Amino acid sequence: MHTTNHRMIPANIIANKRDSQPLSREAIRFMIDGFTSGEIPDYQMSALAMAIFFRGMSEAEILDLTQAMVASGDVLKPVGSAVRVDKHSTGGLGDKTSLIIAPLLACLGYHVPMLRGRGLGITGGTLDKLEAIPGFRTNLEETEIDEQLRNVGCVITGATSRLAPADRKLYALRDVTATVPSIPLITASIMSKKIAESLNGLVLDVKYGSGSFQASLSQARTLAKALTRIGELSGITTTALLTDMTQPLGSMIGNACEVVEALDVLQGKGPQRVRDLSIELAARLIYSLDPKHTMENIRTRLAGLLTSGEAFEKFSSMVHSQGGVLNNQFPLEKTRVIVSTSQGILTGLDCQKIGYAVIAMGGGRKRAGESINHEVGIRWLTPLGMVVHPGDPICEVFCNSDSLFEDAKAFIVASLEFDKGTVNFPPLWMEQLQ
Ligand code: URA
Repeated sequence: MHTTNHRMIPANIIANKRDSQPLSREAIRFMIDGFTSGEIPDYQMSALAMAIFFRGMSEAEILDLTQAMVASGDVLKPVGSAVRVDKHSTGGLGDKTSLIIAPLLACLGYHVPMLRGRGLGITGGTLDKLEAIPGFRTNLEETEIDEQLRNVGCVITGATSRLAPADRKLYALRDVTATVPSIPLITASIMSKKIAESLNGLVLDVKYGSGSFQASLSQARTLAKALTRIGELSGITTTALLTDMTQPLGSMIGNACEVVEALDVLQGKGPQRVRDLSIELAARLIYSLDPKHTMENIRTRLAGLLTSGEAFEKFSSMVHSQGGVLNNQFPLEKTRVIVSTSQGILTGLDCQKIGYAVIAMGGGRKRAGESINHEVGIRWLTPLGMVVHPGDPICEVFCNSDSLFEDAKAFIVASLEFDKGTVNFPPLWMEQLQ
């Protein structure tokens, strides 16, 4: 993997980026290979990450960085001739659409290898949600992934340590050096893992609003453009939607809570926004790969898979294949209601604070590696624009502990904004980038 290149000097490469010089493919490869093997120390890689954070990268540099990260590990081999697809979201509060989209696409014959990392921060990880299902395994070996793709068509599991190991190591460094929110670094991080899944098609759900990474629409648009460009240059048909995260997606937030809501949607019920966004993302992906059907026909077909129970059956097969046991009743902690003390129109929600409420109850991580409580969560009852009177319920909180409930309540009360200007109702999705 790493070939010693005596002409390459890490401090020079860092200085070049610091001074806004473009980095050559060889220089990028040298730094990533050396960092992965341990020859480039963390302090030099951190300095380079900070230089990239401030100076940015050209499209060619981002592509070289992405390819260097892919080359740091293994690439999954496709099994059979099925078209391989995935959906990736930049993370949003209450977003459980992966649990719905994977079986929907598998019902139509696609192979869906959803390999995920564990979420830090407010949005929770898909793996954590699925682990609320008793017995569900998220550490499948590559041979198990292949077998499940052959037999079921979809798999949601942890990325193996051999998949883009440079990203894993670099992300851990970025996390503690304030270099996560950099478009080139995010793009290379996300796309290296998608390329390593050997995808033919990818749909990206890039969120904007208080509950997302990119709070502003223009930042989200810039990220979406970079991701789709790198996808296309890598031979993956890539499409992106900018979607609304000014309020939680659906009403259930928290691990078991979100599985419960996903199961509802998979059986033709559940909140319309969750159903609509799941169908839309899957439909855009299918259309981008095969535009012979109209979007309307594809949407109708997908909605039919939800109402007929086929998507639910597929999800059940995936759960069963990964060792999970699906019962009708999910254990949730005891319910308490938070009521409003204010009167007015709910004009804003700080989704970060609602996410902190879940973390405060133990439903998310404060530090990497912490174990989490799947049974705490929130059922949100007040959409933006609602007129609220004192005593009206804002949300139900699932929490056994009095003191943790008080902590969560403080965050939730602080997240509410009444009568501040007019309510801005962004559409659920804004625009498509290709
Ligand atoms: N998600 C990733 O996988 N990588 C990033 O850098 C940011 C979000």
